[in-house]
Amino acid sequence: MSYRVEGIVIRVRNLGEADRIVTVFTATHGKLRATARGARRIRNRLLSPTQIFTHGRYLIFPGKELHNLSQAEIVQSNQQLRDDLEMMAYASYLCELLDRFVDEELPVPDVFLLLTTVFALGSQGRFPLAARAFEVRLMHALGYSPQLYHCIGCGEAVTDNLLFTAEGGLVCRSCSSDYTNVMPLSNGTWELMKRLIEWDVNRIGILHPTPGALAELKALMRKYIDFRLDYPLKSLDFLETIKSD
Ligand SMILES: [Zn+2]
Repeated sequence: MSYRVEGIVIRVRNLGEADRIVTVFTATHGKLRATARGARRIRNRLLSPTQIFTHGRYLIFPGKELHNLSQAEIVQSNQQLRDDLEMMAYASYLCELLDRFVDEELPVPDVFLLLTTVFALGSQGRFPLAARAFEVRLMHALGYSPQLYHCIGCGEAVTDNLLFTAEGGLVCRSCSSDYTNVMPLSNGTWELMKRLIEWDVNRIGILHPTPGALAELKALMRKYIDFRLDYPLKSLDFLETIKSD
């Protein structure tokens, strides 16, 4: 029984001479992997809608290993994310992060809206903020939210002289020796993290954090995410070599 989904293409691989295997992150069915037959042929109607980062509507015919993607229409081509090298590096990183953390066929409410929102923000040249928002909120949505109010060791409220561990969030001075990857956390970056998690996703664009806070959050989330990954993300080296922030 076929069904229609709305999704964003987060990974594309070539198959044979003219086909593609696409991974589509959908609003309703989570991550789906499907074959798009003939999608690399120049006049094929699947050519554009199955490009990386495209937001589209797709008709899926279920299969055992891979589904089959047949009809497709574009909602938002996100062409600028493919045209600009730095935007492409950022968007590739976000898609790889998502691909690594979500399971196939498992709907993750909120994350689809998060992805479309950060793509829109990134397209306006605001990827340094959009990428941090995506990291923090993705962890939150998947149940790995950093603890931001109490020490993860003893549960005491922590309000100043903040320390943050990649193992789970805030940790007090006396418990900090029990944890690895402990870093100081400035109050400005702490406030930024709380807003990125707690605010309505549509409001994130009104935040204008300092470059210092963004840099601190970036370093901290890198360790936080790496702590939860078995092996490093491939797209990070590329992003590090070309980005300007
Ligand atoms: Zn403690």
